Parts: sequence; structure tokens; C-alpha cells
Amino acid sequence: MLMPEDCIFCKIAAGEIPVKPIYQDDQLVAFADINPVAPQHVLVIPRKHLSSLAEAGEADKALLGHAMLMLPKIAAQIGLAADGFRIVLNTGKNGGQTVMHLHWHILGGRYMEWPPG
Ligand code: 5GP
Ligand code: ZN
Repeated sequence: MLMPEDCIFCKIAAGEIPVKPIYQDDQLVAFADINPVAPQHVLVIPRKHLSSLAEAGEADKALLGHAMLMLPKIAAQIGLAADGFRIVLNTGKNGGQTVMHLHWHILGGRYMEWPPG
């Protein structure tokens, strides 16, 4: 599997940079965002390096489906089931993506405004 040496999320997925996992399985790791923008802010990353959603292909269907089904379960695990949450998947420059390893944000603990800035 491609694992760019300078990819911080690959290092987290590989355990080279330690994080306290909120959830993990053979395909995904979830951990707290280092710079939270909401009372609850969790990142969910695939262990496989994909630079963005735009790089995902047919071979990634099962992984993407698994992630979509796990996101609400992880949100529930951190106490967001009753009041809801927002899933964010920034993609590319105008999407505000800063780390080029596919990741979902789970945001909760307050009302999320719309539209985003
Ligand atoms: P993006 O802007 O690419 O959608 O989100 C990247 C997120 O990764 C940001 O919210 C940022 O705070 C978070 N982040 C960047 N580096 C690290 C790190 O080393 N550890 C953790 N836990 N979060 C990080
Ligand atoms: Zn990576």
C-alpha cells in the first residue's frame, strides 16, 4: 500500500505518531482533532492512503461504504446521537482540505451554522 513518508495521517494510522483512538478497526482509525472547532471534533481516517475523496475509485467502494456506516456509530459513541452532528469531508483547495489524506470530520456539541464560511 502506498504510504507517503510525509503523510501525517499515514503515520497516525501506522501508530508512528501515537493518538488515543476513539474507534479503530482494520480499515479506519478515529481520534480527536488537534485543533477542535466544536466541543466534539473527531477525525476518521482510512488506514489506506487516499489523498482525497476525488482519488477514490471503484476499488474503494467497500471502504467508503464502511466509513459512512461507521460515522454515525462513532458519533453515538461520543455522545452525539440525541442532538445530532455534522460530517464534513473537505476536498481540494476550495473545499478547505489541508491534510492530503482522506478524512471525515465529526463535529458536534453545539448547533452547526449553515452555510459554512
Ligand atoms: P482539513 O482542513 O484537511 O479538512 O482537516 C485537517 C484537520 O486535521 C484539521 O482540523 C487539523 O486540526 C487536523 N490535524 C492536523 N494535524 C493533526 C495532527 O497531527 N493530529 C491531529 N489529531 N489532528 C491534526
Ligand atoms: Zn496518508
